[in-house]
Amino acid sequence: MRSTAVIALYGKGVSKGIAIGKALLLGSEFNESNFSHITESEISSECIRLENSLKAVSKELRALKDALPPDAPKEIGPLLEVHSLLASDTSVCSETKEIIKSNLYNAQWALVSYGKKIEKQFEAIEDTYLKERLSDIQQVIERVVSHLSGNSARYLPKISNKSDSFILVATDISPADLLDLGDQKFGAFISDLGGPTSHSSIVARSMRLPAVVGMKNVRELVNPMDLLIVDGDQGLVIVNPSHKILSQYKKKQSEQNLAQNKLMASVPKVPLTKDGVAVNLEANIKHPSEVEFASKSGARGVGLFRTEFLFMNRDELPTEDEQFEAYKHVLETMYPLPVTIRTLDIGNDKLFKNATNTEVNPALGLRAIRYCLLNSEIFITQLNALVRASRHGRLRILLPMISHVDQVVQVKALLEKCQDSIQFDNRSNSTKIELGAMVEIPAMAIAIAPFLKELDFVSIGTNDLIQYALAVDRINDSVASLFEPSHPAVVKLIKMIIDASDKFKKPVHMCGEMAGDSIFTSLLLGLGLRNFSMHPNNFIEVIQRVKSTDISKVKQYIEPFLEKDAYIDLEKLNAL
Ligand code: PEP
Ligand code: MG
Repeated sequence: MRSTAVIALYGKGVSKGIAIGKALLLGSEFNESNFSHITESEISSECIRLENSLKAVSKELRALKDALPPDAPKEIGPLLEVHSLLASDTSVCSETKEIIKSNLYNAQWALVSYGKKIEKQFEAIEDTYLKERLSDIQQVIERVVSHLSGNSARYLPKISNKSDSFILVATDISPADLLDLGDQKFGAFISDLGGPTSHSSIVARSMRLPAVVGMKNVRELVNPMDLLIVDGDQGLVIVNPSHKILSQYKKKQSEQNLAQNKLMASVPKVPLTKDGVAVNLEANIKHPSEVEFASKSGARGVGLFRTEFLFMNRDELPTEDEQFEAYKHVLETMYPLPVTIRTLDIGNDKLFKNATNTEVNPALGLRAIRYCLLNSEIFITQLNALVRASRHGRLRILLPMISHVDQVVQVKALLEKCQDSIQFDNRSNSTKIELGAMVEIPAMAIAIAPFLKELDFVSIGTNDLIQYALAVDRINDSVASLFEPSHPAVVKLIKMIIDASDKFKKPVHMCGEMAGDSIFTSLLLGLGLRNFSMHPNNFIEVIQRVKSTDISKVKQYIEPFLEKDAYIDLEKLNAL
């Protein structure tokens, strides 16, 4: 029974904060219209259908994991891996096939029946953590049922009015579902299932989304577009609140926002170290809509706009006009601060929709600048959009995966051509575009002088630099423990890059994940880094570290380690 009356519903508040918005009901596939009986002659085709869907979902989940942006909550990767393994578990397939055969159920129905059987087994479990793992199985089953029913994206209801705030209301929501929602904005989520340690709750906390879970039948009680108040602190959801309650909550919400903004405002725009050295913090973004948050968080510019995310998950490539609008928006929002837009870094783990990697060693293959110089039509479209957008702000163009000086020379020639053709109409408005390159291939770090002569700046991409220096695949969990930013060889490479850039008086930035991890802030300051780019969520912790760092002391402490190519004791360094 759905209601239009004011109702208060209680669940478990698993992520704090208040959100007010309209209900967006996410589809549930556990819906009897999906279920039907089959005949004996259909058993084998139904079993094949089941097998194919399980395989497809397992593959889809792994692909989602492999395409995770570097700033995605760190918990999502392993969760997707677990879900992918569950989908390929042979007992799920064989037991469901048994149900198809013995009950003459179609694959969806059999799979849901299998889920119910597992649910019964879980009832006997006392341990709450283990008990909550049932939701992983159910989320995978729901995804497979969705696939069997022919729904490629069960979620993703389109939000037409972008100015409204929305609350997701679901039976359950999995990490993969959150990724499916892409950049659609929502303010909170509430669900029938789940508990404090369920994966959706972990992800909600790391995304700072208020969430109330374990609400039992909220999806039945809420109508689409009902107005909801979600109080993550109290585990309370109010449906269709009265004016009085709404205004009380709006007041409470604005007090919370004010307190958050105060915290942000207390963050100095250009933090100083203990010994008075100014440090520049810029933001990493992957979508134009993130620039407002970057600006509000006090970023002194955009240090990395990963443009490949404009090209992924879509059937057709973005046109020059579409790209122009995206870049212009970011440049105008940040103006007069600079914006660093990286050209398309496609390949390896970031692929166009439906592309499969056929290269034996994709990380060493046709990715990023290599792809762009071979596919000049795509590249020139992007350069044209960038040149046009450059008139709307302070643009720095950043080239990924540079290993040969000739690549920079080729880009400069193309860029000049684009500038000439566009300036033909209106020369007077042209602005100077700075050109830089990521230092993420060790060869460039080791022999960097000729690059610095050609470039206006460089930015250290530690994610790839570490991958290539240590020969550790950055997306392979089984070698993840070898991916060490503090390895003496990595530290040495970073020092070489900074020293050479200083010598050539060229600004050096860092935009890999190491720049946003406060464990390394003091070390990087001691190595001479002054320009850090990271997800704005990391600003506060990094700023605290900056303020407590005495660079001269750090330099003194790390010198003997550097001389001996030894591991630096970061705990002691951070306690100086
Ligand atoms: C890097 O390699 O450090 C980097 C910032 O680029 P991406 O993570 O997008 O490869
Ligand atoms: Mg990189």
